Amino acid sequence: RKLGIALVGLGGYSTHQLAPALQETKNCYLAGIVTGTPAKAEAWKAKYKIPDKNIYNYQNFDQIVNNKDIDIVYVVLPNAMHAEFTIRAAKAKKHVICEKPMATSVEDAQRMLEACRQNKVQLAIGYRLHYDPFHQRVMDLGQNRIFGNVQSIRAHNAFDMGAGSSNSWRVDKERAGGGPLMDMGIYCVQAACYTMGKAPVAVTATFGEVTRPELFKEVEQSINWKMEFENGVIAECFSSYSDREDFLEGKAEKGWWRLGPAFGYEGKRGETSQGKMNYPNIFEQASQMDGQAESFRNNKPSIVPGEMGLRDVKILMAIYASARDGGKRVPISYT
Ligand code: NAD
Repeated sequence: RKLGIALVGLGGYSTHQLAPALQETKNCYLAGIVTGTPAKAEAWKAKYKIPDKNIYNYQNFDQIVNNKDIDIVYVVLPNAMHAEFTIRAAKAKKHVICEKPMATSVEDAQRMLEACRQNKVQLAIGYRLHYDPFHQRVMDLGQNRIFGNVQSIRAHNAFDMGAGSSNSWRVDKERAGGGPLMDMGIYCVQAACYTMGKAPVAVTATFGEVTRPELFKEVEQSINWKMEFENGVIAECFSSYSDREDFLEGKAEKGWWRLGPAFGYEGKRGETSQGKMNYPNIFEQASQMDGQAESFRNNKPSIVPGEMGLRDVKILMAIYASARDGGKRVPISYT
């Protein structure tokens, strides 16, 4: 049986990526929606043939507990709202997929995990790149030491935001938790961790210059940081809302690799010291949700579990702590 997914928050990502992906998934389908905007409810209902009984708003959302059509709640709201809706979904006994970053504080991420444990539901993070063949190859090259030990990593992910109002929550500290690090930089954090197959022991970071103070009043415009792994390997990373960069590189004893574009939805390209990577560009969100639905259905741990989301929030918070403290080395404890 296909599992029913309810999308919570019908913004850009739900509209342009997740809903279309759910037309192609084999293990799950778009069964319901949760929205604060009645006009969106009408439009989605018509477009995707969603029955009235599977349409909720943020107030009556908890009644989803009684809805047998919904197995999975997918939280696609501004970052600071992930905790509330993940916890409410867990209490309604639904498995949860939560978008990245999992939360805007370590405490929230811990509360989310606890709620899912208590209610015996699974929690997975929307880390789509774990389902992408280019990134799976990087995991293989790094973790299985195909070219020997990894010696260094570089990962940059930046886009030029412009002054568009549709991104207003992304520059609001309260709702986003931070700037490009939370939104784009998290892909670099993830990539360094899955290249190494482990988490960094410490980080150092510095905020970049603010050239657009009208937009970046509350969150950073850009940030440089380094992640230090226990064997001394350093990942050099950068993220920004006012540049265009998108690559992931690794250097090992006997070879190297480079993805670029690396982190966007389409057009990925990759190369190693042995030549071009020949992988198809897949519909990542469809593979991701199919993979997550299958793990929920079989009661197997997800390859992108809530625990990984918590680990990453700890790393993000350590990066901010270092940047605020003038680049001081901040060790990270995961226990
Ligand atoms: P968006 O601004 O396009 O959509 C946000 C949605 O939340 C809108 O429908 C909005 O109406 C709703 N909302 C409810 N309460 C709100 C409030 N108080 N303030 C603002 N909006 C409110 O954002 P998006 O790009 O769809 O991002 C949503 C989440 O998905 C974020 O956590 C983001 O990090 C994540 N995301 C992930 C990927 C990915 O590739 N995995 C890509 C894009 C976004």
